[in-house]
Amino acid sequence: MNKFLAANSSRNMKNSGTDIQIDQRNGRRLVLLPLPLQGHVNPMIQLANILHTKGFSITIIHTTFNSPDPSKYPHFTFHFIQEELTETEASTADIIALVSLLNIKCVAPFRDCLSKLLSDVSEDPIACLISDAIFHFTTAVSKGLKLPRIVLRTGGASSFRIFTALPFLKEKGYLPTQESQLENQVVELPPLKVKDLPVVNSRDPESVYDLLVSMTDGTKASSGVIWNTFEELEQSALAALRHDFSIPVFPIGPFHNRFPSSSSSLLTQDQSSISWLDKRAPKSVVYVSFGSVAALNVTQFLEVAWGLANSKQPFLWVVRPGLVRGAEWLEPLPNGFLEDLNGRAHIVKWAPQSEVLAHPAVGAFWTHNGWNSTLESICEGVPMICMPCFTDQMANARYVSDVWRVGMQLENGLEREKIESTINRLLVDEEGEAIRKRILSLKEKAKLCLSQGGSSCQSLDSLVSQILSLEPIIFQTP
Ligand code: UDP
Repeated sequence: MNKFLAANSSRNMKNSGTDIQIDQRNGRRLVLLPLPLQGHVNPMIQLANILHTKGFSITIIHTTFNSPDPSKYPHFTFHFIQEELTETEASTADIIALVSLLNIKCVAPFRDCLSKLLSDVSEDPIACLISDAIFHFTTAVSKGLKLPRIVLRTGGASSFRIFTALPFLKEKGYLPTQESQLENQVVELPPLKVKDLPVVNSRDPESVYDLLVSMTDGTKASSGVIWNTFEELEQSALAALRHDFSIPVFPIGPFHNRFPSSSSSLLTQDQSSISWLDKRAPKSVVYVSFGSVAALNVTQFLEVAWGLANSKQPFLWVVRPGLVRGAEWLEPLPNGFLEDLNGRAHIVKWAPQSEVLAHPAVGAFWTHNGWNSTLESICEGVPMICMPCFTDQMANARYVSDVWRVGMQLENGLEREKIESTINRLLVDEEGEAIRKRILSLKEKAKLCLSQGGSSCQSLDSLVSQILSLEPIIFQTP
């Protein structure tokens, strides 16, 4: 038995109406550092909850930018660092510039905060740091403090495999991508096409490459990598990563099936989404959301609006303020657009997405294929219409349409006629029926992997053993 085992007995914690069994406290503390973006905060907080139920004390170090509300997590300790972004810098308009800057500005305040925590003898000793993989600066900080570091990669394993191949793809001439080659296959990485490779609109295109390579290098240098995925979904990518990396790989997802993400929402979720869905027929509604960062220009936004309207199907559409470049919110819509749809449409600024996808009225999810959204859709058995925007989203979408075959891609531009026909092919036609069957079978696998003896359950046990085998840092006099 581990020498830090505390005498507390098991207890239960209430979470969203389900009783969650909490193991005995094990006398070890974990320090978690999320990347402060919605798609990263959600899985890190879910992971914190999962590891808390396994007996660990949880300390979260967070930037002041985009911080979650600590009062929602009385069972965690929060420390906020001052990364001091200016108002212009604290914008997701150029996401790569923001993340690259955070990797610089967080170094000193994070190191100071972590050093203080390490010398605090009043708390359980720290077993390791769990950092978002994109915060690659933590490799050097944890090495300097001799603290073991495990990373959480919040994206999928298949897209990560592509990131690890970036230097090779550059050498082979696939990158930077050229307009004339976009439809070509990447023969070394089927079923990817050149247009599925990770690109982002950024002031400095080279910085995308640098960031992703630093992330994969920082992951290789860690003591292990945790994935919000499951073995049955991404077996071949996980096998390849196990082969290429000499570190343990822990696919313990889907996280949100254990802990819902609603509590870590940085925006207020509009509950009218659910009361509106309550009045709709089963599997009749298209839920449309492009996540927390992707943006459209006004022309694209209007094509989406008219494609949805012309499909004649009911739709629930998340138009986040900032979704349309240069607009506050819905002003680009023609006068009377919503009224003319006679209640067939509902638009909100932010939705309780997990509950929406679990609602029986939802028949399809038009998504940008952020990894969380993709996984949430799979777990609820909702077929997808894929419209990836940047980095891993293109690869996620290719896997959805061509490997798992649980969705259809909207490729090569946004046109209202194509949108209208894709929605009807998926919701009404027989083609959609086959896709629905396949995603229901994946949903079942996503459930089974979390049950006793299931792959993610076993992987979580291995993760816990691995952490407990790390030598905790005991107080060192400065
Ligand atoms: N989400 C939400 N309400 C919305 C849209 C999204 O709560 O109206 C949540 C969604 O459930 C997911 C996260 O925000 O957990 C978005 O993460 P994802 O990886 O899909 O995309 P990103 O925002 O990182 O591009």
